Amino acid sequence: MSVLLVGSLNIDLVSRVETMAKPGETIMGHDFHTFPGGKGLNQAVAAARAGGEVTMVGVLGSDSNSQIIRSLMRSENINQSFVSEVEGVCGTAIIEVDASGQNRIIVIAGANKELKATSVSSEVFDSIAEKRILLAQLESPIEELEQIFEKAKKEGFFTILNPAPAAKLSKRFVEQIDLLIPNQFEAETLTGIPVTGEPSAIEAGKKLLELGVGAVLITLGENGCLLVTSQGNHHYPSFKVSPVDTTAAGDAFCGALATSLSNGFSLEKAIPFASAAGALATTKTGATPSLPTVEEISLLLSSQKG
Ligand code: ADP
Repeated sequence: MSVLLVGSLNIDLVSRVETMAKPGETIMGHDFHTFPGGKGLNQAVAAARAGGEVTMVGVLGSDSNSQIIRSLMRSENINQSFVSEVEGVCGTAIIEVDASGQNRIIVIAGANKELKATSVSSEVFDSIAEKRILLAQLESPIEELEQIFEKAKKEGFFTILNPAPAAKLSKRFVEQIDLLIPNQFEAETLTGIPVTGEPSAIEAGKKLLELGVGAVLITLGENGCLLVTSQGNHHYPSFKVSPVDTTAAGDAFCGALATSLSNGFSLEKAIPFASAAGALATTKTGATPSLPTVEEISLLLSSQKG
């Protein structure tokens, strides 16, 4: 019934400008906003809103932005007993967006880089109830994640990795992954096969299976997603919506999928639920504000067949 979420906790500092500053130039911004983010936090919020019991493992800093993240996790009923704290800043993204919508982003890993495999102790595993699902992304130190996956597999967890941002994975890590969820660009980085549609996605999925992953679910944006297992492959279409901002579609998808599996549903049932969550996330701007609730997901599911 529970999802163990291991990942990044960030704060996004966003300013809109007319045109980006040249080196040495000072310009005035139109406004400034602070948004909680990071793939770990986005997916934790997505899983919780989709109806999951979520336990977060991550690292925050000693700054005031870390408190903003803590209060969001509190309001979303995310268990943060295993979120540790180090001296310094939390993960921080400094984002400039110009009038044409182009952005320039500096990401400081901050406290996220202090995540240690040892922080996922047997106490953490024991706190998770039946149908134990582990979900992680790659904004935390990869060597530590590899060890966490190894431990979780031994504890009987079903392990899911969203390999974002894309990075090469060791064979040892790959073999600990029950379900890999890359988007088409991440699938290309992992396999060297350019994924441009269903046939190339099948080819990339098969290659990932050969490398030792249990199953592969490649997300293809508005073209839905493709599940590749040793039994064959199956394409799931997307839901029809009017997208305004595709930020966090993948995070909504991964979080909702983990929740649905933790609630005892099969992959075949969980994938349309996740696809509805991904589609809904594109209909609102921002990351966490766009993540849908279980009621919104159920409504879209019942109104359209994915
Ligand atoms: P990422 O955000 O990681 O790049 P995708 O863009 O592949 O991930 O989106 C994840 C999932 O969200 C897709 O498989 C699809 O189900 C859903 N989705 C994304 N974009 C759209 C869209 N424009 N319309 C409908 N569903 C979408």
